[in-house]
Amino acid sequence: MTNLRQQALDSIRQANHLVFLTGAGVSTPSGVPDYRSLSGVYTKTGMAQPEYLLSHTCFLREQDLFYQFVKQLYHPQARPNSVHLKMAQLEKEKPDTWVISQNIDQLHRKAGSQQVVDFHGSLYDVYCSKCYQQVDAWTYLEDNQHAGCGGILRPNIVLYEEGLEEMAIYQSQQVLKAADVIVIAGTSFKVSPFCQLIYYKSPDSQVIVVNQDDVYLSVPYTMIQEDVVSFFKDI
Ligand SMILES: [Zn+2]
Repeated sequence: MTNLRQQALDSIRQANHLVFLTGAGVSTPSGVPDYRSLSGVYTKTGMAQPEYLLSHTCFLREQDLFYQFVKQLYHPQARPNSVHLKMAQLEKEKPDTWVISQNIDQLHRKAGSQQVVDFHGSLYDVYCSKCYQQVDAWTYLEDNQHAGCGGILRPNIVLYEEGLEEMAIYQSQQVLKAADVIVIAGTSFKVSPFCQLIYYKSPDSQVIVVNQDDVYLSVPYTMIQEDVVSFFKDI
């Protein structure tokens, strides 16, 4: 383990084309709970599954339930943590460093990362589902109805049953093809199609997984079963 850990740290330091694939575990140290833990209060009642609360069907049929749940996902006071900051610093040192994130909280950008693919969209990009005008997130947090046209507002996040942005997929494929080191951090890497991105990697690239819980991949990888904060402080 110690040896593998050292080798993983060396690989990241020596990488020329570095890609981070990040998930909820990178945001929890900033005090952003993942949606599954937040959905507990709804699922306890037996009324709704976490996937339903963030589905297109829920948005269409139960606007209030959807709105009440989504509002809880906003943590505008959250600040980037040492993991976000380390990734941003690595981008300064190695210009071909990218982050592809499942997180919708914009913390990578707040940390200073510029090459970020928001694979599941962003909570801070809100628009009207009727007239498509953009409004700021603060307006949405006060009311989910668009004052301009009466349409229902929503954040530009990818809901269950909805397709991904073509651009996010294309960009992810391109940066993964070019990567020599890929680091999967703070995610169980089970959510599809995010987890399928790994198939776009070049055969020569090295994959390192840093996560508290074990992760299974069908490509060769180095597993570092460790808290992301403790690992990233040693890079
Ligand atoms: Zn509108």
